[in-house]
Amino acid sequence: MTFAATVLTLYPEMFPGPLGVSLAGRALEEGKWSLDAVQIRDFAIDRHRTVDGTPAGGGAGMVLRADVLAAAVDFARSKYLPETGRGTVAEGDGGGVEAAVAAPQVASGLPAPLHHASHGPPPRSGEVLEDFPILAMTPRGAPLTQARVRALAAGPGVIILCGRFEGFDERIFAARPIEQVSIGDIVLSGGEPAALMLLDACIRLLPGVMGAASSGAEESFENGLLEYPHYTRPSEWEGRTIPEVLRSGDHAKIAAWRKAQSEIDTRLRRPDLWERHIGARVQSASGARHENEDQGK
Ligand code: SAH
Repeated sequence: MTFAATVLTLYPEMFPGPLGVSLAGRALEEGKWSLDAVQIRDFAIDRHRTVDGTPAGGGAGMVLRADVLAAAVDFARSKYLPETGRGTVAEGDGGGVEAAVAAPQVASGLPAPLHHASHGPPPRSGEVLEDFPILAMTPRGAPLTQARVRALAAGPGVIILCGRFEGFDERIFAARPIEQVSIGDIVLSGGEPAALMLLDACIRLLPGVMGAASSGAEESFENGLLEYPHYTRPSEWEGRTIPEVLRSGDHAKIAAWRKAQSEIDTRLRRPDLWERHIGARVQSASGARHENEDQGK
């Protein structure tokens, strides 16, 4: 199954960007995922193709209009409805980025943007809409986790809304089923780099994308901890050696060392993760105790 990514953005030319090279680029060429970068401005409803307005209540910057965003989101969702499919969309040549040049104004109804970058095979028609997550990139959203990324990667794909300026008119979140996601406690100038990050994290988990199939399971966050540190040749460099145990060939000892390092580093570097890890451990241990007590009665 092709993981279908649709990105709603004022800068479709930013895609696939870094996702066009290396692991993700090869996977895109091989059709393991597809990308459709849709120009939000194509869904503007006035003569000047306005996408933003001044903030209600005053203040600096501009706010993305809910009506324009809704039209873009509805278009993206419509691609996955059986009755509309992709027939209404003006397709690119399937490869290369179509320049996001000024598109004619769209008058009414569910418009099909004429200019957007499209890559890879179209999504399968008939995909169930409820299973198709719509994410908006915003610092106000829930912090993205590896668990969420893993769940997204296991699904049919994702529609991503990229903000600019001061962000989105809040009413869009009441009007459409949109999950608000943050990539960390930092403020970017736009949602595009955040979308690229999210997609990168999903794509590497798709079947057949990563070289060694097992390398996903041991990574940081997969078990609630940071990964242990790595070393490679030369065995001595600038007077520094590789921990002896890693050269011992004793797999049990190596595994124990790695587990200990992983716990030490998590405790020191990420007390927040460590607290949660310990909490989960205590909880499962006390759960087991209760079970034993129950059985003893
Ligand atoms: N005024 C907003 C910030 C807007 S930044 C606030 O203070 O919350 C402009 C756009 O960049 C946002 O709409 C969002 O799409 C994107 N962005 C910025 N920081 C982000 C983050 N940490 N995670 C996800 N998207 C972010």
